[in-house]
Amino acid sequence: MAQAVPEPAFDLVVVGSGGGPNEDDLSGYLLKPYNQNWDGGIVALEAGSGVGTLRRLVGLQPELLQDPGETRTYSASQVYSFVRCFLITHAHLDHISSLVLSTGSLGGLRKRIYANTETLEALEGVYNWKLWPNLASYDENDEDYKLLYSPLVPNGKYHTIFPDISVQAVPINHGITESGPYTSTAFFIRSNSHPSKREFLFFGDVEPDSVTSSTPKTINVWRKAAPMIPNTLSTIFIECSWLSGREDEMLYGHLTPEHLRDELIALATEVYHSRGGESSASTSRLRPQRKRQKRNPSSDELRGVLTGVRVYIIHCKDQPIPLDGPPTSAREIIVGQVRSLVQAAELGAEILSADQGMHITI
Ligand SMILES: [Zn+2]
Ligand SMILES: [Zn+2]
Repeated sequence: MAQAVPEPAFDLVVVGSGGGPNEDDLSGYLLKPYNQNWDGGIVALEAGSGVGTLRRLVGLQPELLQDPGETRTYSASQVYSFVRCFLITHAHLDHISSLVLSTGSLGGLRKRIYANTETLEALEGVYNWKLWPNLASYDENDEDYKLLYSPLVPNGKYHTIFPDISVQAVPINHGITESGPYTSTAFFIRSNSHPSKREFLFFGDVEPDSVTSSTPKTINVWRKAAPMIPNTLSTIFIECSWLSGREDEMLYGHLTPEHLRDELIALATEVYHSRGGESSASTSRLRPQRKRQKRNPSSDELRGVLTGVRVYIIHCKDQPIPLDGPPTSAREIIVGQVRSLVQAAELGAEILSADQGMHITI
């Protein structure tokens, strides 16, 4: 039976989506509710590349942030003056550098930085009068020009960060430091005004649960996501920094195509269980009611379980690519490798590349 397609919940523009070292294409996304104009307020999701990169992009594509039915175009600095808050997954420079550099020059209303406490503490070490003037504070009554540190506590609840947008933060692993595991964040980002409360899932940098030397954490994200797939949640942004075949000792807290495929199998397994062990391939078969056991479903049972899910690959690092192949980029090769692996596993998910300058509706 044909179903009416509900209208989208979000507009998202990719200011940058690379994993370095190109400072002109680092993680930076602009997000707004679909039914509002850009000047109604923006969430800056990550802040690696920012106003300088956006200036170049709107020079090439003046319509990139145009509102429907309007001919007016915004300059990059106008766009960033509409930002109400920054939502940051972790404090690595490739995720915060434009936020820091532009702090003293951002126009518009006072802006919040939503992040976990570790990230905010790291930023306190930046706004310390030495690396940078102290342009941020925890005090709601402080000067208007200061950013407002706003901790996102990972307590399983959604926090309203914008009139129509709520976020649940889930900690994930991103490698090991001298003092222990480094924590990054996955965000469930929900539209409060959308009729079906649509959400999407955005991962900060993440290492595979299978090689993590601390407690596995990505599985917690998949368990939360599974019951919502695909009706409420059908869009996932996740990193794949490295080319296929890189050794586990060389991951530095990131994914390869093989590890991403395995993570998506972990998600499909949770979706399979959340549907009571019925995949689309097995729904026609009658199964006897029995006590539910959590076992690993077969690849047959996982076939098509992620149908309707779009997975956008982000944070591909520039790295040497084979010289004997056609001229292309590491990103194109990585996305192709993930697509082949996920197709071979027949999970049904669509693998896409989130490229700089893209406008994505969710
Ligand atoms: Zn990182
Ligand atoms: Zn990064």
